[in-house]
Amino acid sequence: MDYFISEQQQTIKSLARKLAEERVLPVRAELDEKEEFPWAIIKDLADADMFRVFIPEEYEGLGGGCLELCLVIEELSRVCSSVAVSYAASALGCFTVMDYGTEEQKRRFLPDIASGKRLGAFAITEPTAGSDASNIKTTAEKVEGGYLLNGTKQFITNGGEAEIYTVIVLTDKTKGARGASAIIVEKDTPGFTFGKKEKKLGIRASATRELVFRNCLVPEENLIGRPGMGFIQAMRLFDRSRPGIACQAVGIAQGALEAAVDYAQQRVQFNQLLISMPVVQNMLADMAIQVEAARALAYAAARMVDSGARNVSEESAMSKVFASDAAMKVTTNAVQICGGAGYMKDYPVEKMMRDAKITQIYEGSNEVLRNAIAVSLRKRKARTA
Ligand SMILES: Cc1cc2nc3c(=O)[nH]c(=O)nc-3n(C[C@H](O)[C@H](O)[C@H](O)COP(=O)(O)OP(=O)(O)OC[C@H]3O[C@@H](n4cnc5c(N)ncnc54)[C@H](O)[C@@H]3O)c2cc1C
Repeated sequence: MDYFISEQQQTIKSLARKLAEERVLPVRAELDEKEEFPWAIIKDLADADMFRVFIPEEYEGLGGGCLELCLVIEELSRVCSSVAVSYAASALGCFTVMDYGTEEQKRRFLPDIASGKRLGAFAITEPTAGSDASNIKTTAEKVEGGYLLNGTKQFITNGGEAEIYTVIVLTDKTKGARGASAIIVEKDTPGFTFGKKEKKLGIRASATRELVFRNCLVPEENLIGRPGMGFIQAMRLFDRSRPGIACQAVGIAQGALEAAVDYAQQRVQFNQLLISMPVVQNMLADMAIQVEAARALAYAAARMVDSGARNVSEESAMSKVFASDAAMKVTTNAVQICGGAGYMKDYPVEKMMRDAKITQIYEGSNEVLRNAIAVSLRKRKARTA
């Protein structure tokens, strides 16, 4: 299908594919097995200016938007979504600065993210605040010299590896979510340490870790935007980033579809290739339809974000839900088509099936996003009644 992407977008996509095939493919199984953070590949991505893609030109980026970022995420995920999510989390870690930061904050943090010299991360989740992100407990008390942070964030992508963390904290704990604010905490700030490193089902080469703040003094100039706006900033951030998760899912599903087609073209049973069996053909056709439909929705949502549309919550959530459900179906069927071989680590589809699962869970579980979409539908109906 032609998505009418520009020449520059095609160049970015092709370069991401080349890097994924040349640098990631040879090591993806080993990285997954060893649960090793892909630092060498992150450096390759930085050398190829991939981190500049989503940063404005005035801060040493290439000035791309959501769609350009999505194209890179998709191509990396087609080969290994651990690498893709480690890359994407850096964007997640700096979007709040990009959208709400002061000029000084942008100059301080964005060029380092653009060059790939420092990675970013975004932290809202806590033991008591997962789907109910408004129930955070980490506090940031205003004291002389800045804010004193206390609390623990959990399941943070790039935790321990990133150097620039956008953290959602309570600057006024009496107000709940309306007392939340976003603040940048740099690695090596005294009082900021890393806790449990998670061992995971999928995206095993990505780092998922606890952030622990114990009387951690953060300068006042690191607060992003106005105090009390942190929860709204976080929700807008997810509106902008969910097409990226959708493209992560599309990339995984695309990789699984290709692997299943390859296998079906080689495997002979009952004196015929699997690809010539109607049942397998139907499965492959349905998988291809799912991938293309998911991609169409994901690109459309990304383009809506780039258009500057005021409210993209619904479309952005729809793209994430649809693509992640599609990825789960497609990867599961890819394993089925590859049979016993597909269940083995010699083939990539078992990893893709494990990796696909997380796309249904993070950045708003699909159940919670379906709830949100239903609420918008009700509001829309009430407005038109
Ligand atoms: C690998 C990984 C990486 C992550 N990276 C980050 C990160 O970088 N930064 C960050 O801040 N967070 C991160 N997270 C956290 C992630 O966003 C949360 O795990 C997710 O939002 C779900 O929260 P939870 O795990 O607490 O599940 P829960 O909220 O406990 O939900 C459990 C189940 O209940 C369902 N459920 C909950 N409430 C409802 C409801 N109202 N209606 C219907 N069903 C409901 C959920 O859909 C889910 O199926 C990461 C998580 C993982 C696993």
